Amino acid sequence: FDLRNEDLKDLHELGQGNGGSVKLVEHTPTGKIMAKKIVLIDAKPAVRKQILRELQIMHNCHSKYIISFYGAFLADPNICICMEAMDKGSLDGIYKKIGPIEIDVVGKVALAVLEGLTYLYDVHRIIHRDIKPSNILCNSQGEIKICDFGVSGELINSIADTFVGTSTYMSPERIQGAQYTVKSDVWSLGISLIELALGRFPFSESLSDDSDLSDFEGTLSPARPGSMNSLASLGLPPSRKRDNKSATSKKDKRKSKGVSLQGGGMTMSILELLQHIVNEPAPRLTPEGRFPEQAEQFVDSCLLKDPDQRKTPKDLLKDEWIMYSRTSPIDLEAWASTI
Ligand code: ATP
Ligand code: MG
Repeated sequence: FDLRNEDLKDLHELGQGNGGSVKLVEHTPTGKIMAKKIVLIDAKPAVRKQILRELQIMHNCHSKYIISFYGAFLADPNICICMEAMDKGSLDGIYKKIGPIEIDVVGKVALAVLEGLTYLYDVHRIIHRDIKPSNILCNSQGEIKICDFGVSGELINSIADTFVGTSTYMSPERIQGAQYTVKSDVWSLGISLIELALGRFPFSESLSDDSDLSDFEGTLSPARPGSMNSLASLGLPPSRKRDNKSATSKKDKRKSKGVSLQGGGMTMSILELLQHIVNEPAPRLTPEGRFPEQAEQFVDSCLLKDPDQRKTPKDLLKDEWIMYSRTSPIDLEAWASTI
């Protein structure tokens, strides 16, 4: 496709994120239906051209676990990225609509994401960097694919300052300012899987869904290794050990630095959430016994806090639960028809 904005007819909006909005459009010369992501970028023309060049790598990404790329172009002051439209939307929208997702479907999601990540890394040396339910999409054929991966370093730099919502899927090592690796994506996958199986964000008893994180724009960007986003650089003690979790009173939480966010009866600032991720045990698929043991163990292995102990996506493809999920008889097309 040689894509031009004039040839794209808006049908309706698919969703909004921190970086911009996504619309369902028709490419009128061909009748092809696409999703058009509009990203507002405050960058010099040379940088925008560089971003556009970098995005072209996506033309070479071909996997049934990765959203197809149709092209990108500049439409001042935006960059438009056109991709395959997935008619059932993203998994966050799906669970918010139908409630917790049954564990065998979650197993198929885990398999698809691991396959997608392994393809991106093995073939293109690309690390995703933004695994979360809103970047895992589903269609009525029951296909599960990942989107919004970090192909363009310049794009990551340009939107980093306004890109905040992601921080809560960030691995402990990323919060502490270490380099991104494929294993950071594995952590984010673990958090996402718990969210899908429970039907709520795993830290949601600490931080509410509708928390306004905007005060932190530009400070907590997940994309700048070793810079502003480590706890130390935010002027916080790197570790605030708690002898006993339940000993932390509400009052104690409120007098923290940063903005206190109103949650479901509890409050916790975003900084405290990040500290919590770094200092407290990782979340688990609970209550014990509700989910198959193999699923619990898989999630535990994604959420090993030490990245040296955590496996890569490729190694995790050999995990018992993933091998089971590969052959499990659940019919994703039938499941998708219930959404
Ligand atoms: P963030 O900005 O924090 O990354 P996000 O992933 O929700 O959040 P966007 O990537 O802008 O933000 O996407 C907004 C919404 O549009 C998504 O939540 C998803 O539901 C929908 N969407 C994105 N891409 C597609 C697509 N290819 N097909 C169908 N729906 C899509
Ligand atoms: Mg997205």
